[in-house]
Amino acid sequence: MKPRILTGDRPTGPLHLGHLVGSLQNRVALQREYETFVLLADVQALTDNFEQPDKVRRNVLEVALDYLAVGLDPQACTFVIQSQIPEIAELTVFYLNLVTVSHLRQNPTVKTEIAQKGYGEAVPAGFFVYPVSQAADITAFGAQLVPVGADQLPMIEQTREIVRRFNGLYAPVLVEPQALVGRAARLPGLDGQEKMGKSLGNAIFLSDPADEVRRKVMGMYTDPGHLRVEDPGQVEGNPVFTYLDAFDPDPARVQALKEHYTRGGLGDVKVKRHLLDVLEGTLAPIRERRADFAQDPGAVMMLVQEGTHRGREVAAATMARVRQAMRLDYFGPG
Ligand code: ATP
Ligand code: MG
Repeated sequence: MKPRILTGDRPTGPLHLGHLVGSLQNRVALQREYETFVLLADVQALTDNFEQPDKVRRNVLEVALDYLAVGLDPQACTFVIQSQIPEIAELTVFYLNLVTVSHLRQNPTVKTEIAQKGYGEAVPAGFFVYPVSQAADITAFGAQLVPVGADQLPMIEQTREIVRRFNGLYAPVLVEPQALVGRAARLPGLDGQEKMGKSLGNAIFLSDPADEVRRKVMGMYTDPGHLRVEDPGQVEGNPVFTYLDAFDPDPARVQALKEHYTRGGLGDVKVKRHLLDVLEGTLAPIRERRADFAQDPGAVMMLVQEGTHRGREVAAATMARVRQAMRLDYFGPG
């Protein structure tokens, strides 16, 4: 039996370059080595979008199209809609007993997100506990490996703690997962903010048309102190160079550009033009494949439906073991 991968994305918008280098490239590379389950995390998307169910629904198809466009092969990996797996909700309820509110409050990613969204103490309880539902996602599928961006590392740590607690208290039925971070653990936003995010208005989407990519790249934040071409520029914290590190297939060329920029005499427009070429090299084939799949949304949703059906079987098998371990198998197994 192959080891398993579980990973996923919130259908809060189409996927962006951060997803590609943070997680999608690893998924594509490993999809044949591992039995791979990819979760369209609509329940988690609703935790901070519950007033916009249509947005979440629409983006399930968008994200599925992105998966196919980047080369996730439905023959090799299983696409699953989270809300259609009630076992995940059931596991979440049991796992909530195994964590404390004070521990949840310390989760650095959730802390940042609560601040970004301006929730304060008025944070929806469902959003506050989403790391626990993520532990349910991962363990429902018995995943050993979870390809994620760096912002998700605290969630994997939380999952490992829940697994150890559960296995120690009841019976050793849950698998303890490991995180796998991609080539760029946390791709910054176009605005130089720490993280490119779908919901942050600072992303280049995999589905952006070429002229939109051009507009975004040309408007990118660079070194604010680099006013004239001849001035020495800063490479550190300059997202243009971070993107080149993540996407340019020729690291020697990036190194030469960095040295020139640091010395002075290399203009932002010139570097941005080069970045644009590099990004188009990555994005053009993705865009093309996406357009092909987008012609038949019914067929895409059919793939997702079949995947969800298969995912349900796996989660139900885990749930039966969990019920038995927790002495809840009153009427026999299953
Ligand atoms: P939202 O703003 O709605 O939370 P998001 O852009 O953060 O959207 P998610 O669906 O929350 O995307 O994350 C899906 C996966 O992509 C996670 O594994 C996450 O770590 C990874 N990821 C998201 N943004 C980045 C980024 N900028 N760099 C690297 N990985 C990322
Ligand atoms: Mg996120």
